Amino acid sequence: MANRAIFWFRRDLRLADNPALLASLDEGKEVIPLFIMDDEIAERAGDHRRAYLAASLRALNDSLGGALHLISGDPVAVLSELKKKTGASSIHCAFPYAPYGNAQDEKLKKAGIELTQVGSGYAVAPGRVLKDDGTPYRVYTPFYRAWSAHGWRKPVAAPKNPNWVSPSKLAKIPDWKVPAGVTIQEAGEAAALKRFKEFLKRAADEYGDARNIPGIEGTSRMSPHLRWGEIHPRTMLEPLGQKKGHEVYRKEIAWREFYADVLHHNPHTSRDYYDVKYKKMRYAKPGKAFQAWCDGKTGFPFVDAAMRQLVQEGWMHNRTRMVVASFLVKDLHIEWQHGANFFMKYLIDNDVASNSHGWQWTAGCGTDASPYYRVFNPIEQGRRFDPEGDYIKRFIPELRHLSGEDIHEPWLVLDGLSKGYPEPIVDHAKERLESLARLEEIKAAKPLKPN
Ligand SMILES: Cc1cc2nc3c(=O)[nH]c(=O)nc-3n(C[C@H](O)[C@H](O)[C@H](O)COP(=O)(O)OP(=O)(O)OC[C@H]3O[C@@H](n4cnc5c(N)ncnc54)[C@H](O)[C@@H]3O)c2cc1C
Repeated sequence: MANRAIFWFRRDLRLADNPALLASLDEGKEVIPLFIMDDEIAERAGDHRRAYLAASLRALNDSLGGALHLISGDPVAVLSELKKKTGASSIHCAFPYAPYGNAQDEKLKKAGIELTQVGSGYAVAPGRVLKDDGTPYRVYTPFYRAWSAHGWRKPVAAPKNPNWVSPSKLAKIPDWKVPAGVTIQEAGEAAALKRFKEFLKRAADEYGDARNIPGIEGTSRMSPHLRWGEIHPRTMLEPLGQKKGHEVYRKEIAWREFYADVLHHNPHTSRDYYDVKYKKMRYAKPGKAFQAWCDGKTGFPFVDAAMRQLVQEGWMHNRTRMVVASFLVKDLHIEWQHGANFFMKYLIDNDVASNSHGWQWTAGCGTDASPYYRVFNPIEQGRRFDPEGDYIKRFIPELRHLSGEDIHEPWLVLDGLSKGYPEPIVDHAKERLESLARLEEIKAAKPLKPN
């Protein structure tokens, strides 16, 4: 048995159900638990995500008894120096399956640094489920069937009595705080498990219906925990049974797996069109209207409440993610990438696969996308999914004086805009027709070559 191994925590900031961590302990008597901070990425992440990461690292360090080695720098330099300094015989980690991590792996390989990689942040690793003819799935429902039939391993327990190597100086975890007025959910493995257990008790049975109502706690809010790997999806799939709410929940987890699979086979779709014909569409440059969308001041209450939720919580409900995305692309005619970038700056659950493909689905240019001509009506969506205006009132104090009946079109009532809420910046009916006209233009155009 080798003496020492390095375990590199990447997007798996947890001890339980972490096969790569167990593998490192199998091999080494002592394990050096490491997190490499990429200062450039941290800088770009924005305040919300930085604060979440710092809190998650603090929780991880606590569960390691203070043994976390937190080193800033380029993984090639950090890993080769640490290996030399500590005499470690191997470096263990999971497979990243995301563009940033894949690029790191490539660089390490070129530099001759060998990684022992086990597992991923998915129940079924991206690329594993293929059609009978060996090609990847392009449509969710058949993917879901094949993914379910493939199945996954049972979760594994956290290591018992691990022998961590402590750093010579305690890790200095940055004291990144959220800006004033922002509240983000608790980070860390223990918080993830607690939230999931509470969700199972509270909502899994009713989840099928409750998940669409943004004004209530109808969803699990497990996405930030999954993003940082504070819990593995296997642990979440394990207790799910056959009740309707459980089945719907399993299907949502499978959307995350589907999009990771699609990105794995089509890496360019992190920033570029899955359906290339939409590249040819006429789009508007982001200007004042884009700024109003970012600021939650479009004059459409359901859209604005959601954009303010994003900035205030670093998270947004799935229903409203679709509504604001549709509004940006089909009412303001702005390319989806601008919206996706704004999301990536604020979301604490930012995930390239789910974000880029969530955007492309709504914009009509993704895999089995919502057809482009299906344009979300931001007023009707609000009436249907927030009938009393509870969600709107939570984030838009300027509209709290209005009834559920009046709140969705405040410009129609006498005192609707009396507290400073703006007029709508566009006429939805007109812009809907405009976006359909733009669709006709690209239908008539010569097709572009697929990427
Ligand atoms: C425009 C747009 C952008 C998005 N960007 C992201 C992103 O950056 N990161 C992210 O994790 N999700 C993203 N999603 C998917 C989805 O909105 C979130 O996963 C969900 O809102 C997270 O809340 P929850 O944990 O309470 O979800 P729940 O309803 O409790 O679902 C449980 C889990 O299933 C997965 N899931 C649910 N819905 C989806 C979905 N539509 N696509 C993929 N996975 C799903 C998530 O991992 C989620 O945590 C995006 C969706 C859209 C329409």
